[in-house]
Amino acid sequence: MLDLGRGHALSSPFMVWFKKSRKPREATPGKASKIPEGLWVKCPGCAQALFTKDLAANQHVCPKCAHHFRIGARDRLRTLFDGEWVEHDINLVSTDPLRFVDTKPYADRLKTTIASTGEHDAVVVATGSLDGQRAVIAAMEYSFIGGSMGVVVGEKITRGIERALAERLPVIIVSCSGGARMMEGALSLMQMAKISAALARLDRAGLPYISVLTDPTTGGVTASFAMLGDLNIAEPKALIGFAGPRVIEQTIRQKLPEGFQRSEFLLDHGMIDAVVDRRELKGTISRAFRFMVAAAMPDAVPAPVTAR
Ligand SMILES: [Zn+2]
Repeated sequence: MLDLGRGHALSSPFMVWFKKSRKPREATPGKASKIPEGLWVKCPGCAQALFTKDLAANQHVCPKCAHHFRIGARDRLRTLFDGEWVEHDINLVSTDPLRFVDTKPYADRLKTTIASTGEHDAVVVATGSLDGQRAVIAAMEYSFIGGSMGVVVGEKITRGIERALAERLPVIIVSCSGGARMMEGALSLMQMAKISAALARLDRAGLPYISVLTDPTTGGVTASFAMLGDLNIAEPKALIGFAGPRVIEQTIRQKLPEGFQRSEFLLDHGMIDAVVDRRELKGTISRAFRFMVAAAMPDAVPAPVTAR
């Protein structure tokens, strides 16, 4: 009955197993699916299904296990400022100084990223109030080419610091970055020095700078301004480091300890000052500011009595 000889096809009923008797149903364009997309999200920490709205109301921290989801620059500003803020240097855009091409021209990559994210580069710098204390906050945007630091990021942050100097305001930089932007080569690396020099001027003026390190803070960002805060505060379990764990393992040919390059490990080893839950971040910064601003402007508080 089953003859697989030349020129002879498999005959039924075997064919039925392999042959589609009915055509697959095609999607009807314009017809909405019954389950709206993105209504639920699975927590990578505890595998619970979370209602997106609940998650947003909880500052994108899992209510069950406190897993910190990555958030964008504008969500970050919303969690820190009291209300409205004034954004600076909105339209600064990279000029592609090296005419760089990798898998595609950098100019095209910039164009598509600007269109998809609605941002002009990987940082948003703004002035507003944090618990009534005016401050300049720079928040990095990871969805813009991995939050990489190019000329525009460097320039915007530097101008933010200079603005703080002129108005005598404290500065907060929230890092979320893969490091320097390779498509701008050495010009990216120069931003490390430029921002660090501006922070040194801020320091000489006696104005506080708080660095907030979020997941991930790596490369040239860690190697410059992210570690230069008067206070360096990290979010729980954030990846913080210079080179990635795989590169280090290959270089030193040793297995790295558990939790290496995570916030808690860095705190244990004296690299950062505190690990703070996102929901308590604003309160922590506000208390630190009250203390630091009072120290920076001694005229505002009564002079301490010193025994001679
Ligand atoms: Zn969870």
